[in-house]
Amino acid sequence: MKNKVVIVTGGARGIGKAVSKMLAEEEGTKVLAVAKHEKSLESLKEEASGIFGYTCDVTDSEQVKNLIHRVMEDFGRVDVLVNNAGIGVWETVEEMSEENWDLQLNTNLKGVFLLSKHVFPVMKEQGGGHILNVASDLAYTSREKTGAYCASKWGLLGLSGSLLKEGAPYNIKVSTVSPGLVQTDFGGVPAERKEEKGLKPETAAAHIVQALRTGEETGSVDIIVKPAQK
Ligand code: NDP
Repeated sequence: MKNKVVIVTGGARGIGKAVSKMLAEEEGTKVLAVAKHEKSLESLKEEASGIFGYTCDVTDSEQVKNLIHRVMEDFGRVDVLVNNAGIGVWETVEEMSEENWDLQLNTNLKGVFLLSKHVFPVMKEQGGGHILNVASDLAYTSREKTGAYCASKWGLLGLSGSLLKEGAPYNIKVSTVSPGLVQTDFGGVPAERKEEKGLKPETAAAHIVQALRTGEETGSVDIIVKPAQK
């Protein structure tokens, strides 16, 4: 991963932050951490050096187009795109507002579509690349109060399959990593409340970094990583 240019969306908090730090500190990667909020990038800068920060709302096509434009001006290439930004709102279908449905589908699925759409021509032009999508164990199963989230993550696996087929002729690799519960503030539940049952963000990040290496070799890898049932 040394010297590769890697975009990590949601790269300043939670799992994405652990990926950004691991790649920058242990692999010598040029990490471009993307956050919605400038505040997240500021606190990332306080605890890690050598990571480049960009703000972008992944649900907004103009902002995504501008992001890739800025990255190309700054670095001239994108070797890897880690689509990790995501959001979860736990409500039954009956309770769920249309706004919360749209928020989850737009962030977790449309955001991946937009980033991939704008990175694809760059990777084609440079002769290849790797797109890794962070899904969830809820991309393979369903529970109550996860309707929109499951729909977005099941959809993400479908999108990943199409990207894989469309990218193959251009040496664009596509992989997915699907974690179970991870100790982050995701879904409005503070990380401390997940300490007993969740994976550490660094464990999820290590599987993402490993998937980048394996997928580079094989063209694609799909990993599910879950904490032990307690
Ligand atoms: P966090 O809540 O800790 O971080 C979410 C990140 O997504 C933040 O960095 C946030 O940016 C970013 N983000 C949210 N919306 C947008 C947006 N519109 N535009 C740009 N960035 C956005 O979550 P996790 O680290 O836990 O989750 C990362 C991924 O892992 C998600 O896709 C999630 O679905 C998946 N996952 C998480 C699990 C868990 O238990 N934690 C389990 C399985 C999958 P900002 O910092 O600016 O707010």
